[in-house]
Amino acid sequence: MMPIASLADRPVATLDITEASRRSWDCLVVGAGPAGAVAARQLALRGHSTLLVERARLPRWKACGCCLNHAALETLDRIGLRAPIESLAQSRLRRWRLATPYGHSECAMPTGLALSRASFDAALVSEALAAGSEYLDATTASVSHKIAEGWRVRLQTGNGRADVVASVLVAADGLKSPLLSKLGTFESEVQANSWIGAAATVHRGEGAFADLSPDTVYMTCGRDGYVGMVVLESDQIEIAAAVNPHALGRWGTVQALITEIVTEADGPCRDALAGIGFRGTPRLSRRRRRIAAERLFLIGDACGYTEPFTGEGMAWALTSGLLVGPLVAQAVRRWDPSLIPQWHSLYHQRIRKRQRLGRLLTRSLRYRSCTKIMTAVLNQQPRLAASVMRRINAPFDLQPVFAEVR
Ligand SMILES: Cc1cc2nc3c(=O)[nH]c(=O)nc-3n(C[C@H](O)[C@H](O)[C@H](O)COP(=O)(O)OP(=O)(O)OC[C@H]3O[C@@H](n4cnc5c(N)ncnc54)[C@H](O)[C@@H]3O)c2cc1C
Repeated sequence: MMPIASLADRPVATLDITEASRRSWDCLVVGAGPAGAVAARQLALRGHSTLLVERARLPRWKACGCCLNHAALETLDRIGLRAPIESLAQSRLRRWRLATPYGHSECAMPTGLALSRASFDAALVSEALAAGSEYLDATTASVSHKIAEGWRVRLQTGNGRADVVASVLVAADGLKSPLLSKLGTFESEVQANSWIGAAATVHRGEGAFADLSPDTVYMTCGRDGYVGMVVLESDQIEIAAAVNPHALGRWGTVQALITEIVTEADGPCRDALAGIGFRGTPRLSRRRRRIAAERLFLIGDACGYTEPFTGEGMAWALTSGLLVGPLVAQAVRRWDPSLIPQWHSLYHQRIRKRQRLGRLLTRSLRYRSCTKIMTAVLNQQPRLAASVMRRINAPFDLQPVFAEVR
């Protein structure tokens, strides 16, 4: 296995767009979030010439609750990255505390981790570079067109643009997934009544936030949204929420709505929320019917998205970035149209089926009666609550792909 990158590393572009356009690539991975970084790493470890392209310059902030659940840690463990990632975090998450207007409850959770996306994503990209992937940052990719032996993709930076050609394109460009927007057949459907995300990172300081325990995920649920809080490394607090966009009309700002949700449920730190500037996301829940085409594979949020109540988004992203490796490798060797249904089927079995439970939970929490029942179950049926927790956090089935991937 390749050596682990130094964790002090911050990923720096390894070439410029002119150099990138002079080479022809086995794999072009667009988007350096958890899905793209892991995919690029695994493909480079396989010996494929791999170019990872990212629109931002890392480290960058990203709207996220920053909780890596147990399943995500297990996936990282299988590729040798758990220990170095854990070393970046201040503490492990072991408890989950819920506040609703119907009461408060608490339960143990399988070990997770709270880590800022600035640190996590930068560390994963450093790992991809250590494995031999090339990297372009501050560069926006857009699909130019399909060619006989792959894809021609346009790269745009502040200084100019160039086209690159790759045998296989991996789209890991996140929720809105703009890369394929010009290809009409890859529209993602935003689900009816989809909520929007919002998040902010604040200094822990000495006020109410100082009372938050670093081993606990604090969730507050109300009719128009839910709010999570965790302690990150470097004495920061991450506050992330999913809220009903229609309720914004009543409250005026995301901050006012979040404060109302926390106040109604008597959740933590409500007095500390004044003046916090939250950044929002587009509508969250969306689905893409097609997640593969000739020499093209979609991974992570680009495949569709379920609201993050159960904090699993990064686990799905990391795991899809890992699972797609053998199919991409085969596509590089020789294109076979059966790879399209293979990726649809594998993604459905390993990821989409698991998203059903999260979807069920987030949808039911929009009804007062369900929130009431959930609060009561957590308090009165701790075994049932523990069993649901275990199910959400269960390691992914990485076989039989894994033996080949590593
Ligand atoms: C409010 C909120 C809270 C959340 N909380 C949690 C949580 O606690 N735990 C959890 O596991 N998940 C959580 N999630 C979900 C999690 O953030 C996502 O599931 C995860 O980031 C998906 O990873 P990804 O690699 O697919 O996409 P992303 O992390 O979105 O990465 C996509 C990357 O692609 C880049 N990109 C996009 N377009 C282009 C382009 N054209 N060219 C080049 N680069 C491009 C972007 O800059 C970005 O860096 C939360 C999400 C939200 C909105």
